[in-house]
Amino acid sequence: MSTALISSDTIIALATSLGTNGAIAVIRLSGLEAVRITNEVFKGKDLTKQASHTIHFGTIRDDGEIIDEVLVSLFIAPHSYTKEDVVEISTHNSKYIIERIINLLIKKGARAANPGEFTLRAFMNGGLDLAQAEAVADLIASENKASHEVAMNQMRGGISNKLQEMRDKLINFTALLELELDFSEEDVEFADREQFQALITELKTHIYRLIDSFTYGNAIKNGVPVAIIGKPNAGKSTLLNTLLDEERAIVSDIAGTTRDTIEETLNIDGITFRFIDTAGLRDTEDTIEAIGVTKAKEKAKQAKVLLYMYDEFDNTAEEVINQVKSLYFDGLKVILVRNKIDRKGGYFENVMDQAIKEALFTAYTDTLVAISAKDADSVRPLKDILVNAIKDSQLEGQQIITNTRHLEALQLAYDALEQVEFGMASGLPGDLLAHQVRTALRHISSITGDIDIDRDILGTIFGKFCIGK
Ligand code: GDP
Repeated sequence: MSTALISSDTIIALATSLGTNGAIAVIRLSGLEAVRITNEVFKGKDLTKQASHTIHFGTIRDDGEIIDEVLVSLFIAPHSYTKEDVVEISTHNSKYIIERIINLLIKKGARAANPGEFTLRAFMNGGLDLAQAEAVADLIASENKASHEVAMNQMRGGISNKLQEMRDKLINFTALLELELDFSEEDVEFADREQFQALITELKTHIYRLIDSFTYGNAIKNGVPVAIIGKPNAGKSTLLNTLLDEERAIVSDIAGTTRDTIEETLNIDGITFRFIDTAGLRDTEDTIEAIGVTKAKEKAKQAKVLLYMYDEFDNTAEEVINQVKSLYFDGLKVILVRNKIDRKGGYFENVMDQAIKEALFTAYTDTLVAISAKDADSVRPLKDILVNAIKDSQLEGQQIITNTRHLEALQLAYDALEQVEFGMASGLPGDLLAHQVRTALRHISSITGDIDIDRDILGTIFGKFCIGK
């Protein structure tokens, strides 16, 4: 592993965020000189003589002037996040105090840390693999239960462990395949082809599931895009208002997503739903006629879930069937919502529902729910339906990926494994097969960082972190 990215200097940064109302701020140092540098300005015990994982009260002084009373925590290498000596100074959360202390410590020999540099060091020194390090950023950014779960699982090695285990098995086979080369005249096969095929199949299945989990993973990280579409007066804005009003207190914007249109978000069961392009909806005119079929299609295209709304008074079954068919694409989850059941006869399944179900069920959707958009009680089941629509039961307890870099690497690994299978089927000699396996290995390893990773790639990954992480 290249160590050029990591230098022996001691870095410093504020680990907590500036400008909040919190009482305490934490300044963190990491590197060979972390303890010595801190000790130079710390009045209390001699920090260089203290054990790891101890906390010390004292003052930070600049030429005798007391800047603050602080608590200093010591983590001596390798028992720290970065695997280097780490000092954490808890100060009072004043911008002035923080700046003074950081500047003072820089004067004594520390250097201001780059974004993500603490985590980069943790990775470089083997404390975290690359996927775990990336999960740290996701964990910090997690805003709901679902994204927190996924990030926590990844940080604790959820994705890496299984990949590493399979990678080790592949490496064994590659060694055996390469050995065959030395005995090529004797026509021996050290690597049992049947076992090898079984391993490739297992790996492909695992990778395929991971690739498949990305849509869900990405949805829970960034919010599941939902489009509400239907004819004028179907009750779209009424439904949106009812859904949102219930959750008003906890509805918040998702940080970091760019959008050109107004979007409302709703958090149900720890999953964030984003209602696409609700600008017109909240007041009125965003209807199929008004926005045109093309626009409706555009809107549906961005969605993972389509709530198609209609009622039996202003719609015909044919209209609903044709429009849903024209909006549908592979992977879109369609939920048919028949509205206004509070009106005469509306509670009962009718001929229209039957015709719609007959035409659309199984191929386009399997969900039809009858509601009164005005009535919160009646809308509630729709929330469960939304959650279930994306909580694919197959994904329960499975590893989930949320990172595009991982997705790309997995796709390349999958393609490479297919090449290996193809090579095996056409009786490719061991050494050429081994070469193909190495390609697959390289892609798998790039996820966990078990190979030399390009400096630029590391720069991009850790550059996205904030300073202090
Ligand atoms: P949009 O054009 O699809 O956004 O429809 P609106 O939400 O503006 O609703 C159109 C009309 O239908 C309004 O007068 C609503 O009050 C009414 N409406 C919406 N939902 C219901 C419902 O569940 N029951 C009844 N009776 N009227 C409804």
